[in-house]
Amino acid sequence: MTLYKNMATRINQAQHIIVLTGAGVSTASGIPDFRSSGGIWEQDRSREYYMSSEYFQKEPEDFWRKYKAIFQMKLVGTYHPNNVHLFLQQLEAKGKKISIITQNVDGLHERAGNTTIINYHGTLQSATCPTCGTSYGLSYIMNSETPYCNDLYGSTPCGDILKPDIVLFGDSITEHDKAEAIIDQGDLLLVMGTSLFVMPFNFLPDYAIYQRSLPSILINREETMKDNIFDVVVHDDLSKAIHHIQRFLQ
Ligand SMILES: [Zn+2]
Repeated sequence: MTLYKNMATRINQAQHIIVLTGAGVSTASGIPDFRSSGGIWEQDRSREYYMSSEYFQKEPEDFWRKYKAIFQMKLVGTYHPNNVHLFLQQLEAKGKKISIITQNVDGLHERAGNTTIINYHGTLQSATCPTCGTSYGLSYIMNSETPYCNDLYGSTPCGDILKPDIVLFGDSITEHDKAEAIIDQGDLLLVMGTSLFVMPFNFLPDYAIYQRSLPSILINREETMKDNIFDVVVHDDLSKAIHHIQRFLQ
């Protein structure tokens, strides 16, 4: 219990918390963790090939069929934020600055009501036309099997096949510099629900701790590759851990 009290004290003292989140934050909302054992990627490694920019270029229509199946797009709208998402929203409501850098693509931090969110691996909530840059929301994407751009050049529709706004395998990460810039402004690092296995996301804790000297907290069900660089580490079910911490919050 002293660990949780220690974490809560650090959270109480912080003005601007940098929060890094991963799949473990969303599993309590019923969203499968694609990477841990038993997750969907584990069951069928070919999906990693299908969800690549290479496959999108080659077979965009089949790409869209597989994309919607893999990410269970029909269900996306029925997921709801859980107590971990809501905990971060409550900290913001209390007047703390909360900046979330998430690997999740489900949009649940936005739905919970947090306002500063970097979607490091993009989002399922929208898609963009590669030709003209027009952006489309979830309902348009779900309206047809393959979503086409209906923007007009004069009276001619653009007609290109949209590309989802998640980062595909083979795509470059565009948000890394923005993530570091936001870390520069923080005074506490809180990492939750990620094994810190995926590069280059897993460079961010090193940046925050070694370059910016931020005090640091890690909560994850399993050990991570970087446990040793954090000030306070707890291995527990995330929902339970948050519940314990909340008892000591001001
Ligand atoms: Zn277009």
